[in-house]
Amino acid sequence: MELTRKTTFGNYPPHLSKKDILIIDDTADNLRILSSILAKVGYNVRKALNWQMAFTACQTKLPDLILLDIMMPEIDGYEICQRFKANQTTVDIPIIFISALDDVFDKVKAFKVGGVDYITKPFEFAEVIVRVQNQLELRNAQLEILKLNNQLEERVKQRTLELENTLKKLKIESNSRQELQSKLLESALRDALTGLPNRVFFINRLEQALNRAKLESDYCFAVLFLDCDRFKIINDSLGHLVGDELLVAIADRLKTSLSPFDILARLGGDEFGIILENISDNNMVINVAKNILNSLSKHFQISRHQVFINISIGINLGNMNYEKSEYLLRDADTAMYRAKALGKGRFHIFDPAMHREAIQTLELENDLRRAVENQELIVHYQPIISLDTGIIIGFEALVRWQHPTKGLIFPAEFISVAEETGLIHHIDTWVLRSACNQLCIWQNHPSTPKPLHISVNLSAKLFLQPNLIATIDQIIYETKINPALLELEITESVIMENNVDVKKTLEELKQRNIKLTMDDFGTGYSSLSYLHNFPLNTLKIDKSFLSLMQKNDEDVSLVPAIIEIAHSLGMNAIAEGVETFEQLSQIRNLNCDFAQGNLFSFAMEPQSILELMLADPQW
Ligand code: C2E
Ligand code: MG
Ligand code: MG
Repeated sequence: MELTRKTTFGNYPPHLSKKDILIIDDTADNLRILSSILAKVGYNVRKALNWQMAFTACQTKLPDLILLDIMMPEIDGYEICQRFKANQTTVDIPIIFISALDDVFDKVKAFKVGGVDYITKPFEFAEVIVRVQNQLELRNAQLEILKLNNQLEERVKQRTLELENTLKKLKIESNSRQELQSKLLESALRDALTGLPNRVFFINRLEQALNRAKLESDYCFAVLFLDCDRFKIINDSLGHLVGDELLVAIADRLKTSLSPFDILARLGGDEFGIILENISDNNMVINVAKNILNSLSKHFQISRHQVFINISIGINLGNMNYEKSEYLLRDADTAMYRAKALGKGRFHIFDPAMHREAIQTLELENDLRRAVENQELIVHYQPIISLDTGIIIGFEALVRWQHPTKGLIFPAEFISVAEETGLIHHIDTWVLRSACNQLCIWQNHPSTPKPLHISVNLSAKLFLQPNLIATIDQIIYETKINPALLELEITESVIMENNVDVKKTLEELKQRNIKLTMDDFGTGYSSLSYLHNFPLNTLKIDKSFLSLMQKNDEDVSLVPAIIEIAHSLGMNAIAEGVETFEQLSQIRNLNCDFAQGNLFSFAMEPQSILELMLADPQW
């Protein structure tokens, strides 16, 4: 009991008290003493007198610790220890050797065969307990480490699995991202409607061709810029869906005129681009252009519509002197514009002079902007004569540009640029306001013939503007002109551009009593049938018909025909560009109503016009 008190029994962790200890000793006394000591401390103690019993005890239950006597008959302690250590199930059980002091006890051997400690007889009880306790704690710690190791391993396994799964997911994600990326790249380089490569792709390929031309002297290529003629009319009249379908059909037809090696792209809107590579001579390019024009001359069947469309082609025969591929395309574009200007539905090959002209146009554009700001525009007036009375009944307002260095510039040189840049809105409303003001001044002059009319040209572009009527109302209000004395001259293109809106605008003008004149009649492409549909008052016979009158007998018939048409539709006819008395008498004989031309007077500034009126001329 005293022993028990001396031990640290009271401090024992509870789980150790249940530990199982196997004592193997052939001396029954030893067995008894040891087991009683250990049992008192709280261990579960089993006893074995020899190997056989020990082995059976271990089979029943594995002990937590073995106390093993060395000197035993038949099989001694060393041998037993080796047997336990050789067995997988018992290898880890700590074994403490027991030996009498006078035994031939080889401590080294004890450790060699796998013992963890030794206790010498006679037993010092406290020593026995401490050594047993130490070994059990050690074993416990080992088991704990093992457990933690296992847990760690398990965790590592789990983590590895998780990582593998995440990796798999990442791979899938990265694959789908790559797919998406290539799809995006594909769509960034492709035109969604036609499926053709787009402008970005085209410029890229052009760049490659240009670079190659710089490296290989015998490599030749050409770039073609294609633009549909009057595509807007199709969009406006048949709708955008038909327009889209037509673009797809055009793309398909273009492909048939090209080899699979040629690059065809949609550059935007109704524009296409083609790169022809490895060309042997210019004729090859010309033939491709001709084939394209030819293939497009056949109609397209879009839904229930038969559509005809022409294309204008600009050709730039690639040369390595270009700095950038964009410039190549720009010059092909310039050539395309020339093709359009020359009558559309044809091709034109770029030459550097065209670039200089394009630059001049740009300069003109900038110059014109400045002119508008600096009020360099002036209005000249050309009298209109009544063929009935031979006296002046009105004037046409004609704009001129008083250029500070180039002198007087006529509208033919700047109206189209003004139309392209949008400056025409400003110019035309300014001319209208000036002309209305001028008419008021002349109307109020005591010695001028009355009533006087004023004719003002309005560009077709103004009819695309929604506030045209409001602007005209404002000018009438400001100048206090009688609207019945105002005549607006429009061209056939106004009526052809957009029937519904234009008709509405023209009706509104009519309601205001403003007169409408169809200028340059006969030079447009429109059919005569539209004339009924619009509230026109006057047809102005283009001067080209007048000048042909004397030269060519056949054309004489056009002037009477136009006068006839005008009268049959309840309109007046004005002959424009009358230069000779012969023409004057001819149109008089044809019952033309009014006349205008250099025979009577050039267009002049207001002061000269006033002097002319005061002279009271009559023809
Ligand atoms: P237009 O409206 O047909 O004007 C008649 C043109 O014929 C004027 O040329 C006039 O000077 C010219 N002309 C008149 N009588 C004769 C003649 O006997 N012989 C010849 N050879 N020519 C004659 P201009 O002033 O150079 O104007 C040319 C065109 O510019 C005009 O043709 C008109 O379409 C446009 N235009 C003129 N002023 C304006 C304007 O203020 N706004 C707009 N949008 N266009 C204008
Ligand atoms: Mg006119
Ligand atoms: Mg005219």
